[in-house]
Amino acid sequence: MRNLVIILGDQLDSKSAALDGFDPQQDCVWMAEVARESTKVWVHKARIVTFLAAMRHFAEDLKKAGLPVDYRRLEDPQNQGDFIVELEAAVKRLKPEKLIMVEAGEWQVREDFRDAARRLKLELDEREDRHFLATHADFEKHAKGRKQLRMEYFYREMRVNHGILMEGGKPVGGDWNFDSENRKSFPKGGPPEHATPHAFPQDAITQEVIQIVEATFPDHPGSLADFDWPVTAEGAQQALEDFIAHRLAEFGEYQDAMWTQEPWLFHSRLSAAMNLKLLDPREVIAAAEKAFHNGHAPLAAVEGFIRQILGWREYVRAIYWRYMPGYVEMNELQAQQPLPKFYWTGETDMNCLRDALGQTLRYGYAHHIQRLMVTGLFSLLLGVRPQEVHEWYLAVYVDAVEWVELPNTLGMSQHGDGGLMASKPYIASGKYIQRMSNYCAGCRYDPGQSTGENACPFTTLYWDFLIRHEPRLKMNQRMSLQVRNLSRLGDDQKWEIQEQAQSIRASLA
Ligand code: FAD
Ligand code: SF4
Repeated sequence: MRNLVIILGDQLDSKSAALDGFDPQQDCVWMAEVARESTKVWVHKARIVTFLAAMRHFAEDLKKAGLPVDYRRLEDPQNQGDFIVELEAAVKRLKPEKLIMVEAGEWQVREDFRDAARRLKLELDEREDRHFLATHADFEKHAKGRKQLRMEYFYREMRVNHGILMEGGKPVGGDWNFDSENRKSFPKGGPPEHATPHAFPQDAITQEVIQIVEATFPDHPGSLADFDWPVTAEGAQQALEDFIAHRLAEFGEYQDAMWTQEPWLFHSRLSAAMNLKLLDPREVIAAAEKAFHNGHAPLAAVEGFIRQILGWREYVRAIYWRYMPGYVEMNELQAQQPLPKFYWTGETDMNCLRDALGQTLRYGYAHHIQRLMVTGLFSLLLGVRPQEVHEWYLAVYVDAVEWVELPNTLGMSQHGDGGLMASKPYIASGKYIQRMSNYCAGCRYDPGQSTGENACPFTTLYWDFLIRHEPRLKMNQRMSLQVRNLSRLGDDQKWEIQEQAQSIRASLA
């Protein structure tokens, strides 16, 4: 054999650089389902099924196209459960002259494959991932000479370089961003009428994977009863069309709003399909831009949506690679509290958390503001060790892969990187949740109270966070308004808040 072409579970791109120059007569694709990927953190069953079902469909498509595929199934009795052990066995069996792969999306996995190739004394031809619009070199060029990195400037450069929403060298509509029209809460009666997202019935391959996952990982978190994620490139395309037709127009206006028992609202549900590389971000961006040009969706919604993909998604990847491997260990705020156990069960009397955690366990999904301003906010205010928060997020979402999850969790949400990712900690009291949702209306706590039996734990912990971190926060201009509000509190009030915060921490330790 000439080349063994390694394709990982989040590299399911039929146009992958790994397949450039592939010759079915001399080369073979290698794919392996390994248990370790589902156990290194305690992975949600829906995330395991999404990856494995997508891998099996992808392998079938390759075979149909005439490519030989050496595929190790999870339930194979010889499966040793580890990528590198499996790769070494495959190399022994197939005796390739060279290994080819697209650079792995996770730092440690990339290192493991590089080490394995060295041990096997085989050349590893590692190719750049063409899925992303910005290469590592593009980002280094952007970062060079800048004292501080900020998504907004990177995003503007990406708009210009790729000619997206640009007109005569200027941003379409005369501005880079129309967020003043976005990010509203729902009216009192709740979200406007909206279609439920396109359903993806499970075919025989997915059903088989569901059975295998239930049997192999019975005690893992989450449910498969409602499994409904696209696991093929065609499915991903349908999901994109469905979003553009039915939800994009309201995406901007309501992207930060939350409502009880409404997991999807106007979100795209495309992250898992994109992260597995079933869907090209260029196609997603082009479809959204077209919807603006043909009058189907307003500019504020389209720009807001494109910014998430062309801006945030590319930017967090760049941050990950720039600061790994040290990034994962950062804990700038010295947070040491353990993650509350109810994150794995959803059993809490805090309504907002119960709803966000309940849908996470049911579907493997929560939208951005639920992740940032409910589950993430609570652990930030409580002072949970960012590494534990990171492991939880990596485990429970169907779209979780480390390059995107880690900077969002440890950086944006927990401020563990001290501000590399976001210029200030995203903190708020329960009043923010009250403004952006109907959660508080049905809750036993009162978001307006910081002490006493009915005090909202978010509000108590918010003030406690400001008190604890006042010296650091004072240095940050973007926090000055919030810090100044502290002076409204008397010493007794501060003491009471800190006492109550301590008892919340003790009860959740
Ligand atoms: P939409 O709301 O419809 O947004 C459209 C697309 O924009 C998404 O599909 C996604 O690809 C991209 N996007 C939006 N926000 C971000 C962001 N902050 N960073 C990168 N891409 C973004 N996203 C993941 O894909 N995987 C993760 O593991 C992940 N972990 C997160 C952890 C935390 C603590 C936070 C705050 C955010 C995390 N995100 C993650 C980002 C974001 O929450 C999800 O991409 C989004 O909720 C996915 O749902 P959707 O496809 O319906 O997104
Ligand atoms: Fe959440 Fe506090 Fe509102 Fe209850 S009152 S839903 S705990 S923010």
